[in-house]
Amino acid sequence: MALPKIAVLTGAGISAGSGVPTFRDAEGSLWRTHNPQELATPAAFARNPKLVWEFYDWRRQRMAPSKPNPAHFTLAEMDALLPDFTLVTQNIDGLHPLAGSKRVLYLHGDIWRIRCTFCDHRQVNRQVPLAPLPPQCPECGELLRPDIVWFGESLDWGVLTAAAKAFEEADIALVVGTSAVVYPAAQLPVYTRRNGGEIIEFNTERTALSSLATTHLGPSEQMLPAWWAAFKAEQGIGTSGEG
Ligand code: NAD
Repeated sequence: MALPKIAVLTGAGISAGSGVPTFRDAEGSLWRTHNPQELATPAAFARNPKLVWEFYDWRRQRMAPSKPNPAHFTLAEMDALLPDFTLVTQNIDGLHPLAGSKRVLYLHGDIWRIRCTFCDHRQVNRQVPLAPLPPQCPECGELLRPDIVWFGESLDWGVLTAAAKAFEEADIALVVGTSAVVYPAAQLPVYTRRNGGEIIEFNTERTALSSLATTHLGPSEQMLPAWWAAFKAEQGIGTSGEG
């Protein structure tokens, strides 16, 4: 029998076990005297690109030492073993590819990617600290910016469409470490449920999606590997067909 189709949505909570602060921890507090949510906007960048870059440079320095945890590695194994598998992340920390995930849809961008505000130049850049700030485009000399979707900006249409399709078609939606309050990401697992699929939530607390979830499990760094081990045994994944 065909394996179930699985779509996964991850949020900041999956990286909590790797020491990356969640949204509430990191951004609910002030950076210097600024409200970080007010810095993650196109208007703030237009006003003071150096200040916005200093904020992102500080976040990059805090994220740089973080390593993937067993939840990230489990998703990378699922990516390798399941033919119909989609990983959609709200995270910008880059821990999914570091764990080995090959197919990742980034809803909100990636803090290790930088792009030009004027031309098509894009680069992967892991230099910490980054200098000089603000960085300039090596091709046209204009300002470079973090390749992150800021408040008030649209999500990439192609990424969002692919994510919506995967959740609509999924038999199982895994919702991992997200408070499910940021839209449209929070809507994705609802599509699975509406089409008769199940939602399995991994979170240390109840969320806006918990009432729709068929199963609620605890911290992702422990419970996701455990769930995957049980799923593999049930589906006969990784066992030989002989005997
Ligand atoms: P959030 O901070 O709103 O929610 C985090 C959720 O994770 C909470 O519901 C919390 O109960 C849960 N959680 C905490 N520890 C957990 C654990 N060990 N296992 C499972 N769940 C755990 O984050 P969000 O829902 O991702 O939305 C906030 C936005 O912040 C996103 O847009 C994202 O781009 C951004 N963000 C990203 C990072 C990152 O890249 N790691 C960090 C902070 C914020």
